[in-house]
Amino acid sequence: MQHYQWYPGHMTKAMRQMHKDMRLIDLLIELVDARIPSSSRNPGIDDLGKHKARLIILNKADLADEQYNRLWADEFRVQGYHVLEANAKSAQIGKAVLAKIRESCREKIERDRKKGIIGRPIRAMVVGIPNVGKSTFVNALAGRASTKTGDKPGVTKGKQWISLKGNVELLDTPGVLWPKFADQTVGLRLAMIGSINENIIDITELSHKIIEFMAQSYPGTLEAYYQMGTFADTSEALAMICRERHCLLKGGEPDIVRAARMLTLDFRAGKLGRVTLDRVIARR
Ligand code: GDP
Repeated sequence: MQHYQWYPGHMTKAMRQMHKDMRLIDLLIELVDARIPSSSRNPGIDDLGKHKARLIILNKADLADEQYNRLWADEFRVQGYHVLEANAKSAQIGKAVLAKIRESCREKIERDRKKGIIGRPIRAMVVGIPNVGKSTFVNALAGRASTKTGDKPGVTKGKQWISLKGNVELLDTPGVLWPKFADQTVGLRLAMIGSINENIIDITELSHKIIEFMAQSYPGTLEAYYQMGTFADTSEALAMICRERHCLLKGGEPDIVRAARMLTLDFRAGKLGRVTLDRVIARR
């Protein structure tokens, strides 16, 4: 099997900058992909955010399995995080997030009040791995196109505070964390949902993994969506999808790579239904 490894060089620099910026911050908001709430976290994040109020946003919750959204939210709460299930593209997101930010910082607000400090803003930093929806999320909160999608980490153009309603300020520094994985399953799942550079992925091999996962975890879904019969293995399934969708090369030969790409995109876009790849591990 292909091994997915990806360590862009600017990771260390971005992380160092974030550690510096943490002095200015009351709350660390971490975006994870609700389809892979564990695999889309950077292992360095807990060290970065120690002694800070923590809020985990289960973003793209609209693409993830509802029952697992609930289980993951419960799991993170047990671990001491504040949690919000979110769709950064929805119109109502801003209000829900601001309420959650206040809830997450209740202790700080109370501490300030006791010291007679009134009106000191809550300062937050948003972090997340690429493609998790960070720009969409920040733009939704700020109510304008204030960050560019595809921001490069390590390219700090001076600190920028974005003022939000409710006396909250967001630090608009890179905030991009790269997935760092020792475990191949993590790499594979990141590739499946589209968080790994396409150039290093064998799309056909990946599509076999997607078929395997769907057949195991959501049986019958592929057959229903592509209106095809049952299949004995992943190669047969891909060949059937190829036929159903008329993916042909010029000479009339099946274009398996095109079928593989189509399936992968359908999967990522939620056309095969809401899916969760990381399952909550029973800890007790
Ligand atoms: P970034 O790299 O973390 O800044 O990610 P972007 O904000 O550029 O988002 C990556 C892609 O995910 C874009 O196509 C967004 O429209 C999409 N996206 C972001 N948040 C959500 C969400 O909650 N649900 C869905 N379905 N798509 C989202």
